[in-house]
Amino acid sequence: MLKRTLALLVASASFSALATNPAITDTFTADPAPLVVGDTVYAYVGHDQAKPDEGYTMHEWLLYSSKDMVNWTSLGSPFKPTDFSWSSGSAWAGHVIEKGGKYYWYTTSDHKSIHGKAIGVAVADAPEGPFKDARGSALITNDMTKATDISWDDIDPAAYIDDDGQAWLFWGNQKAYFAKLKPNMIELDGPIQVIPDAQVKGYTEAPWVHKRGDLYYLSYATGFPEKTAYATATSIEGPWTFRGLLAEGAANSNTIHQGIVDFKGKTYFFYHTGMMQYPEIGGSFRRSMAIDYLYYNADGSIKKVEQTSEGVAPAR
Ligand code: CA
Repeated sequence: MLKRTLALLVASASFSALATNPAITDTFTADPAPLVVGDTVYAYVGHDQAKPDEGYTMHEWLLYSSKDMVNWTSLGSPFKPTDFSWSSGSAWAGHVIEKGGKYYWYTTSDHKSIHGKAIGVAVADAPEGPFKDARGSALITNDMTKATDISWDDIDPAAYIDDDGQAWLFWGNQKAYFAKLKPNMIELDGPIQVIPDAQVKGYTEAPWVHKRGDLYYLSYATGFPEKTAYATATSIEGPWTFRGLLAEGAANSNTIHQGIVDFKGKTYFFYHTGMMQYPEIGGSFRRSMAIDYLYYNADGSIKKVEQTSEGVAPAR
């Protein structure tokens, strides 16, 4: 039996050029945020470092790149929470977008002096970094939002630049917050607003905004254990129309955390699972990035994503 297991491992290793899910197996990679820059896709992830009996243990973010969605290259850790002088750690989810040749990385971590999670922003001149704190202080702290009294409602930032150049930030756990960003991308421009619960039914966390044609899509994690739901709108400011689930729960993980991008003519659904089997065993605190295709119906609704072990074919 052992020989057979080893033979299977060798056989699978020799086919490593083919896609599989999880898509990255050199270490654990949570909360993937994909960014397409020309012919390259970057995946900014949290590094799950929990031992099998630990909860969330994440001291740094990691970066990977790929030219085909299948072969991923580790670019190390370009930033960690304690690179912010105001942060005490916890590399929770983030999102990187480009504006004017600069790359802005909105992140979640713990604040040293203001109780709760906080959102910071780092900036770099290239997607690979080096990144540095863009402000010297947190962009959003727990005391700035009070729609819920939990200390972790200010997490999971997702930025979006509209066709008119206006940048927006979405975030939140239990409540879906959003606000305008100033043209400098590192300050809020106006009040923090809350999307009404009825427009994002069952909202838990992890917002992600994308646009296709004239329609805005706001996808998010719903329930717990989480599935992925979405709403659509004809304006980035809403109102949003709840459209249902686009993905069921992720295998062996109570969170899923999606990111959606187009690359070389196809649409990809990034998420994480607890399905790493070798060289380590995954779980809810030992998550791994996975990628599958996302397809639309003719009316603009999203077909339920099929989560596969095989993953996607090389993009060309
Ligand atoms: Ca708050």
